[in-house]
Amino acid sequence: MLTGGCLCGAVRYEAGGTPFHLTFCHCTVCRRSTGAPCVAWFSVPKTAWRIVQGRPTRFRSSPHATRSFCGTCGTQLTFEDDEASAEIDVTTCSLDDPERLPPADHTHAGSKLAWTVLGDGLPVHRAARPAD
Ligand SMILES: [Zn+2]
Ligand SMILES: [Zn+2]
Repeated sequence: MLTGGCLCGAVRYEAGGTPFHLTFCHCTVCRRSTGAPCVAWFSVPKTAWRIVQGRPTRFRSSPHATRSFCGTCGTQLTFEDDEASAEIDVTTCSLDDPERLPPADHTHAGSKLAWTVLGDGLPVHRAARPAD
């Protein structure tokens, strides 16, 4: 079981199942919505995800996607794509132990900032990861 939550502790979650799609996303929406140069994410089946404390604030970050964050401290928690409704993406660094889920690739690197220099040897995808 994976556990995590926001910085202030108001929102807590649990995630089961086998995490997949571990990635660093360099897209402009992740960047602007977090204020960070890129965001590490993992995905789990939506049926394996639950909020156990608090209620995140939700907002439409694009015509096809909803993000959630703690309305008190601002930690971004999840991304849900209308076109992939069986899964939910979770910010790796909201986990209590982010070391458990190291990213396996870089996605949307076509939008990457020039000063974000990659040197980890992981696969780099210019846009979304090719379908697997
Ligand atoms: Zn919070
Ligand atoms: Zn992104």
